[in-house]
Amino acid sequence: MSIEGFDSRLARERRGRLQAERLLAQRSEELYSAHRKLAEHAHALSHTVIEQRAAHADLVGRSTQAQAALALATEKAVVAERRLWDALSAVEGGFAMFDRDLRLVIANPAWMRAFDGVADVAPGASYEAILRVSVEEGLVDLGDTAPEEWIARMIARCQMPTIPPVDIRLFNGIHVRLIDKRTPEGDLVSLAVDITDTIRRERDLERARDAAEAAARAKSAFLANMSHEIRTPMNGVVSMAELLRDTALTEEQALYADTIRNSGEALLVIINDILDYSKIDAGKLVLHSEGFDLRQTILEIFQLMRPGLEGKALELRLDHDGDLQGGLIGDRGRIRQILTNLIGNSVKFTDAGHVTVRVRAAKAPHPQGKVSIRVTVEDTGIGIAPEMQAHIFGEFNQVETDATRRFDGTGLGLAITQRLVALMGGEIWLTSEPGKGSVFGFAIPLEIDPAQVPEPPHPEAPPPKPARLRVLAAEDNKTNQLVFRSMLKGIDLDLELVENGFLCVEAYKRRVPDLIFTDISMPEMDGTEAAQAIRAIEAGLGLPPVPIIAMTAHALEGDRARILAAGIDGYMTKPLRKSDLHMMIRTHAPEALGKIRGLMAANPPAPG
Ligand code: ADP
Repeated sequence: MSIEGFDSRLARERRGRLQAERLLAQRSEELYSAHRKLAEHAHALSHTVIEQRAAHADLVGRSTQAQAALALATEKAVVAERRLWDALSAVEGGFAMFDRDLRLVIANPAWMRAFDGVADVAPGASYEAILRVSVEEGLVDLGDTAPEEWIARMIARCQMPTIPPVDIRLFNGIHVRLIDKRTPEGDLVSLAVDITDTIRRERDLERARDAAEAAARAKSAFLANMSHEIRTPMNGVVSMAELLRDTALTEEQALYADTIRNSGEALLVIINDILDYSKIDAGKLVLHSEGFDLRQTILEIFQLMRPGLEGKALELRLDHDGDLQGGLIGDRGRIRQILTNLIGNSVKFTDAGHVTVRVRAAKAPHPQGKVSIRVTVEDTGIGIAPEMQAHIFGEFNQVETDATRRFDGTGLGLAITQRLVALMGGEIWLTSEPGKGSVFGFAIPLEIDPAQVPEPPHPEAPPPKPARLRVLAAEDNKTNQLVFRSMLKGIDLDLELVENGFLCVEAYKRRVPDLIFTDISMPEMDGTEAAQAIRAIEAGLGLPPVPIIAMTAHALEGDRARILAAGIDGYMTKPLRKSDLHMMIRTHAPEALGKIRGLMAANPPAPG
């Protein structure tokens, strides 16, 4: 090989080596870079592994906690379910739950017991199937209802938005009330409550109430009969004593006659009080409105009080509202009773000074076109202790002190008065100071009577024809006949007395009288029947009606309505009083006043 050849070969080899070295350096470079990347990746990977390990550990921890919580919750749920079930099993009432398709989900033992072990009644059974089993097995007492109708009604009931409770009777006499309710999910919760005791108690109460009502009716009937029975002989006693008083008597005999009459009247007051109280108590007292003059009524009561004023320096005063002219419409008799009681008490409990009755009409009219009439009875008597004032309107309440024990009375007066005022829609009150006096006041709504505005007298009225007044009277009781005849003794009138209603009608037909008085209870034909017969004759012949006045010992409300419904114009209760009888003649035969001699003059008014 030549040198040249060698050099070029060397040069080639050097170039080759240099190239190889460059390549090596490049490869080394690449290798390093790859190595570095690998190292970086490994580093990152180990980081991820660390993180994942931590996450895993966290997850494991959480899962353990969750498992513990689940175990606790499961335990609690089991306990709660057991308790709920224990409670449902322990309750006496039946409990059942149906799903939205009305299939039984669950029922407590009490509910199941009603089906007496019938196998078809179990979870999954439909409501309708259970109703059918109940009917077929005779578990329910349907009474007169047809089975299909009952089943349809029970199912329809469950479809209602608000399910009404229903009571059913089981074969063994137990009464059950079914109370059903839909839950928000549509399930039906059904409760069956045993109401047998309640029903039994209700029946016992009904029986007791019926018995009490029957007893109250018997009591009323007894009171009505007793009042009639006691009043009839008392009529004889009081009236005869009054007539006896008009005969020539020694002073001692006059005292005896007065005592008989006063005792009889006192007894009648007591009977009337007891009657009134029991009627109000039984809700049987009915008010009867009529036109009346309040001022006149008070003056009449003053007149009645005169005997009570004897021996006392006591003055009765009336202060009547000047604007209140004319009459009022109300139950005159009951208003009179209220006033008599209050004024009577004031006179009874006042020895000296005055008893003043004030009447005022409220300025503003009452809602129903009525006017509130306010009456106060003021006295200067013994007064009432503050602690007694609250009880004074209770029944049988009397302020019993040594000072008041000398006063008689039933202690029912104010109780009756308060109830009468309440019945009229009014109120009653009291202010009193012991030793100074009392003021009892009441206010009641009354109508103004347009018919009773006082009329001026007619000077040109023709004078009455001078002829004897013809009076026809029917009364079966001999004593009462004697009383009636005697009370008209000395009066110039023509009296025909007959013994029953039939004879009264016959006498009327023979000759029409000016005035008829009739007893109510009489044999053959009673007073109301006679009045009806006479009214029928008058209507048939076009005759003017003769005033008919009833004389009755009946004191009950129904009688009054019956008496007035028969066409009778007025009535007097027995025992008859001469002044009342004469007043009736004056009222009902005013045109005949001129023909009667010997009639008692109208009572002069008391000092105002
Ligand atoms: P009585 O029939 O006994 O009078 P009341 O119910 O009318 O029954 O009255 C009850 C009691 O109230 C009386 O017994 C009396 O003690 C007392 N009382 C009633 N009014 C007055 C009065 N104006 N002054 C003093 N006490 C009175």
